[in-house]
Amino acid sequence: SPLTARSLSRSLAEPPGAWPRGGLGPCPAAAPHRPQVRGVRSACGAPRAVLPPRSHRIPWTRPLSLSAAAAAVLGLGHCGGDGRKQLSLRDVAELMRSRECERVVVMAGAGISTPSGIPDFRSPGSGLYSNLQQYNIPYPEAIFELAYFFINPKPFFTLAKELYPGNYRPNYTHYFLRLLHDKGLLLRLYTQNIDGLERAAGIPPDKLVEAHGTFATASCTVCRRNFPGEDFRGDVMEDRVPRCPICTGLIKPDIVFFGEELPQRFLLHVVDFPMADLLFVIGTSLEVEPFASLAGAVRGSVPRVLINRDLVGPFAWQQRHKDVAQLGDVVQGVQALVELLGWSRELQELIHKEKAKLDARFK
Ligand SMILES: [Zn+2]
Repeated sequence: SPLTARSLSRSLAEPPGAWPRGGLGPCPAAAPHRPQVRGVRSACGAPRAVLPPRSHRIPWTRPLSLSAAAAAVLGLGHCGGDGRKQLSLRDVAELMRSRECERVVVMAGAGISTPSGIPDFRSPGSGLYSNLQQYNIPYPEAIFELAYFFINPKPFFTLAKELYPGNYRPNYTHYFLRLLHDKGLLLRLYTQNIDGLERAAGIPPDKLVEAHGTFATASCTVCRRNFPGEDFRGDVMEDRVPRCPICTGLIKPDIVFFGEELPQRFLLHVVDFPMADLLFVIGTSLEVEPFASLAGAVRGSVPRVLINRDLVGPFAWQQRHKDVAQLGDVVQGVQALVELLGWSRELQELIHKEKAKLDARFK
């Protein structure tokens, strides 16, 4: 049956990170299990709809004071027929410029990092996932399985060495999100990526929900002590399996493995999505649950903007009249928005300044 407010409430009552039955594990590597399907569907084949739990739903009030111009843009009053007007990217930029929208939630996926050279876990042939043969593991999923990790942690640390902070650099999209934060417009950035490029772009951790974990911190698998990921950089770079300085237990970066709970911070979605007044979905195929269902958790009056190669998820099968789809190259899509916002020069300066910082830090 479709995922309803009630079933969402129920799933929230379960331990954090418990997955809806039939859903996929949190790790991006989960995707290849899944047949290539358009949109996310429940087991019975019906599209899933997610509403905020009743207690978090906002009664029918208009929380924003709308200017006449914005009201016109939003199709409130002026248009005939059903009074609805399709939004454009230009309209969205205007809503941001006028700060009619200033609690922006962003959902980001692998597509924002491919321009940085990060292999997309899901691209058959060229993707990291299909290149895992070099790690000499029995089957690709094993690299994110705890049972295998305890027997042979080396393949995972080979991947860790590749993705450890410093190897890859944030790109235009990451810095756009940073600028969104600098301007006080970013409520939260939910990312499926484990490359840490959001942090590297200078977005503070409290603005992030790294749904699939991070290399920025690591935990001892025996005494559970938590450490900065930097403490083990030397080990990882020199192909040594890191050990706990206290108890010599095996150290595991805080990446979410199959069957592991999602980070506690993921629960922030319960408050963030009902509070959002604008949603961006950037570079994600919205195929991994429960991340995918979040796109439906913003209020019906909230514009949702998809910047992605293809039309995906609810943008394809459960459209709302305030959906905007900017399809094609992700960076070009973000650039188009940045130009409409009038932020181009400011963003270039930010990129220049931050690039110099990273060059100095990771030279
Ligand atoms: Zn320990």
